Amino acid sequence: MSSQTALVASGLSKRFKTGRTYIEVLRAVDFDALHGEVTMVMGPSGSGKSTLIAALSGLLKPDSGSVQAMGQDLWSLRPGRIDRFRLDHCGFIFQGFNLFPALTALQQVQIVLKYQGVPKAEARRRAADALSEVGLDNRMNQRPSELSGGEKQRIAIARALAKNPNLLFADEPTSALDGENGQIVIKLLQRAAKQHGAAVICVTHDPRLEAYADRVIQIEDGRILGDRRTDPSAAPRPLTAHELIGA
Ligand code: ADP
Ligand code: MG
Repeated sequence: MSSQTALVASGLSKRFKTGRTYIEVLRAVDFDALHGEVTMVMGPSGSGKSTLIAALSGLLKPDSGSVQAMGQDLWSLRPGRIDRFRLDHCGFIFQGFNLFPALTALQQVQIVLKYQGVPKAEARRRAADALSEVGLDNRMNQRPSELSGGEKQRIAIARALAKNPNLLFADEPTSALDGENGQIVIKLLQRAAKQHGAAVICVTHDPRLEAYADRVIQIEDGRILGDRRTDPSAAPRPLTAHELIGA
């Protein structure tokens, strides 16, 4: 897998007004992420992680700074083009799964492909493939209320993967899961990077995930305090399809 830059941000600053004072949530943050890598941003609650993801993915405009992603200067685009950028290039996985209660697993995945303009038969096939990749072949027709937390998060991952996104953003993807399901989820994110070449940007305060990162960036109080590559020989290998389904 090539190690090309997918995203570069420089000088990102963001502050929020609370009452009469401002709180500085991002302070001149420089950031980059490569295709084929899991970049983990670790920091305590309130350190600015979700705000950083929002600024990197076109969800929340920073007060200053820029984001170059997939060859575009994100925050110079018109709002409609930013939405299109997210649709075309980004997958999202959140702590709370963000599934539609009324839709089956297959429909949850199909619907995003439909928004992208993928023809129905192809959308169905790709949705089924993505669910199969996360080991949910036998859950395609179930609704969220009939699924465990781990299964719901795997649907959210399938939904993100079905788009084959260049950028995959995960915000505390394991924090609502037990250790075993958390491990399945992080290994799937690793696989999205290694086998599909996505730049995976995962923010978390869960130190157990560090072992699965190619690179660990520390954020505290809106500032980047550390940036190190992990030892590749120590990295756990991605899960095979067989192990995943057996899991
Ligand atoms: P993290 O994801 O690391 O927990 P966040 O990026 O969500 O941190 O938030 C960082 C800080 O910014 C927190 O103190 C939070 O209360 C504050 N904050 C986030 N969003 C808003 C907002 N829309 N208005 C005011 N304060 C906010
Ligand atoms: Mg957060």
